[in-house]
Amino acid sequence: MRALGDALLSSRIARCLVETMVIFTMVVVTIALLPRALNRSQPSFPAAKGVIATRAGHGRAPLPRGAKIGKLPYASKSSFLRLVDSPWGFATHLQQPTRAMNPSQLNVTPVVSMPFDENAYVVWLEGSAQCLVFDPGLEPDKIIDFINAQGLEPAAIVNTHGHADHIAGNEALKECWPRAPLVIGANEAAFLTDPVLNLSAGFGMELISPPADQTVAHGERFSAAGLELDVYEIPGHSPGHVVFVWRGGSPHHVLGGDVLFAGSIGRTDFPGGSLARLTQGIHQHLFTLPDDTLVWPGHGPRTTVGEEKRRNPFVGRPAGYRG
Ligand SMILES: [Zn+2]
Repeated sequence: MRALGDALLSSRIARCLVETMVIFTMVVVTIALLPRALNRSQPSFPAAKGVIATRAGHGRAPLPRGAKIGKLPYASKSSFLRLVDSPWGFATHLQQPTRAMNPSQLNVTPVVSMPFDENAYVVWLEGSAQCLVFDPGLEPDKIIDFINAQGLEPAAIVNTHGHADHIAGNEALKECWPRAPLVIGANEAAFLTDPVLNLSAGFGMELISPPADQTVAHGERFSAAGLELDVYEIPGHSPGHVVFVWRGGSPHHVLGGDVLFAGSIGRTDFPGGSLARLTQGIHQHLFTLPDDTLVWPGHGPRTTVGEEKRRNPFVGRPAGYRG
């Protein structure tokens, strides 16, 4: 009887020990995994300071894990993505993000229009509810969807130049946001409403944009959406082409249209084109910016001033540039 009692007691002790070990193991595992589980709601974004513009397969950085934004090929480091990527999915996407103003962080999101692979850009200061839209192209719905998803409102629609692939979305954006002025270089304004000048006639499109509400000229500072942008006229691709330089933080940013591309430059064989003037303008107004200045071109991927100085075969050191 006593032997039976001893056996029962020892089996109870053994079971108790096993249970204690199981609980202990669970506590240890929970403590070890908890930080990871929490970090899942904070996806790590590629760390380009000031700006994140990502596109899988575009040679920059992949989209954050789990991020899905429909057909948009590009995505910004935005509250939208952060929420979509969160473990709570689209439910929290409906919440309005808190916009803490950070005037030194510029968000630049390219939205590509086919068939010319033209880059429109939605640009805004982190925390601001207002944005600028540069060069809305042939697929304005994508741009409008992105702006709405971000809860932004355009303070201006800006054209770097008047070629059809850069102005085709002006009308659709003006319809959505009639109070946003349409802005273009003073010497390019006539292109908006002239299908021959804006080259659409050559494609059989006869595209006519709404007229300019405001023009900008070389040396001016253009202010909107809390941004200050310096305007430089760089002719050569088109006669009144302007670029916009943001110096409000580090690095600087250039919204450059069809002037300087990654490894290339804008075509100079259109009416009013000039390789000499384009080259001179790039050297004078872009290559004098800091090397880490980000250049957002009208076609193709983002580049930097330093990279183009070093490698650009048309205007950089391979072409004899000494600077
Ligand atoms: Zn062009």
